[in-house]
Amino acid sequence: MPVSHRGLQLDAQPSAALLDGGHGQDGHVPTRRVWVPGPVIVGAGPSGLATAACLKARGVPSLVLERDACVAGSWRHRTYERMRLHLPVRFCELPLAPFPPGTPPYPTRDQFIAYLDAYARAFAVEPLLGARVRAAAYDAAIGFWRVTVQDAVTRTATEFMSRWLVVATGENAEPVWPHGVEGMDAYRGTMMHTSTYKRGDEFAGKKVLVVGCGNSGMEVSLDLCDNGAKASMVVRDKLHVLPRDILGISTFGLSVFLLKWLPMKWVDALFLFLSRLILGETGKYGLQRPKIGPLQIKKSTGKTPVLDIGALRKIRDGEIKVVPAINRFTESGVEFADGRKEDFDAVILATGYKSNVPSWLKEEDFFSQSDGFPRMAFPHSWRGKNSLYATGFTRRGLMGSSYDASRIAADIANQWTEALARNITAHNNA
Ligand SMILES: Cc1cc2nc3c(=O)[nH]c(=O)nc-3n(C[C@H](O)[C@H](O)[C@H](O)COP(=O)(O)OP(=O)(O)OC[C@H]3O[C@@H](n4cnc5c(N)ncnc54)[C@H](O)[C@@H]3O)c2cc1C
Repeated sequence: MPVSHRGLQLDAQPSAALLDGGHGQDGHVPTRRVWVPGPVIVGAGPSGLATAACLKARGVPSLVLERDACVAGSWRHRTYERMRLHLPVRFCELPLAPFPPGTPPYPTRDQFIAYLDAYARAFAVEPLLGARVRAAAYDAAIGFWRVTVQDAVTRTATEFMSRWLVVATGENAEPVWPHGVEGMDAYRGTMMHTSTYKRGDEFAGKKVLVVGCGNSGMEVSLDLCDNGAKASMVVRDKLHVLPRDILGISTFGLSVFLLKWLPMKWVDALFLFLSRLILGETGKYGLQRPKIGPLQIKKSTGKTPVLDIGALRKIRDGEIKVVPAINRFTESGVEFADGRKEDFDAVILATGYKSNVPSWLKEEDFFSQSDGFPRMAFPHSWRGKNSLYATGFTRRGLMGSSYDASRIAADIANQWTEALARNITAHNNA
């Protein structure tokens, strides 16, 4: 059944219609131009897959474009082997498909990847792989998004044209490298970002400096330590460390439950009290706590507290050393802010990630150019103007992705059904 939209004839088939060539966005000259009947979704991580699945369940086909050669590339290629989900399994399920029976409370990275593969198969989501989106802009003249993709192998450009654009490229699309640290280029040891760190035994017997003390920095330090490396961790800012579980209940789950009944300030006070009982005074080990509580900081800045899975004990026992900020790099190591110099065989940058949306989306109204996140905070961050949508930018992990996917699919499905009904009426009247 053909769907007419704003005077254009679209096939209501999952397949896209090939059109003529022409000039695309951002200087790329597409060798071909393709009309896509349903939405274009950029990114085949959990957020993109969940949105495609929810659309499918409502009878709306979509085209998912993914730069990697596989789905869930962030989890497959940019996480280390020992990693587990930080949050309990029930908060990490995508819509319409629970984890299989027997999944542990905190699934391993491999179990999560297997779940995502099965999820894509179950909903027959087959992304176009190796398709990095280089540019996307709304063409007001025809009411369509023009999305330019460059093929990873042939380097040829294709322009996809769709009524709907769903941005699912993630909060963590690109690793952040520190800039402007003196002597960084002169350092002769191994230097890498946590996104390429795989396993601690590659560093056995080596002195390794981990730069950053968020969840990744803490966990990589622990992994290094467990594999016989001598780990030091740079702690520059104040931070909250909470136990991952309190009396066998996940701290995250407990916070979700308590926040239904109590003000955030009280829940923060309770967590800080319990953390002191369980973990001790973290300030004694060089990890000073901010004045504002962990949940309030998360709410106002998006900064997640560290959920401890054992690194703190190693810090307490002196197996992981806490060191101050880096003043400058030397050829063989670093000079710290207190003037002390130390040699290191390797430096691992746990300096976080950033969104890459500003690099390809030619739009400044809905997405902020400075951080690549929607300007509106959750729960208003999923829909912009001109049928532009964002999923997975809520700073609420996979729960946020699921919320976005359901809302976006319902919204697009309504428009899809209306267009279909209009078309049937027009056909009957003809
Ligand atoms: C170490 C770590 C542990 C985490 N643990 C948890 C947890 O336990 N629970 C939880 O809820 N959340 C967790 N998170 C957050 C987690 O990243 C997200 O919840 C989840 O992966 C987000 O999915 P996403 O699809 O939005 O982003 P991603 O998984 O990053 O997927 C985005 C996809 O978009 C693709 N892409 C990017 N740019 C382009 C482009 N220009 N063109 C085409 N494709 C593109 C990428 O290749 C990628 O496949 C963790 C994050 C990290 C870094």
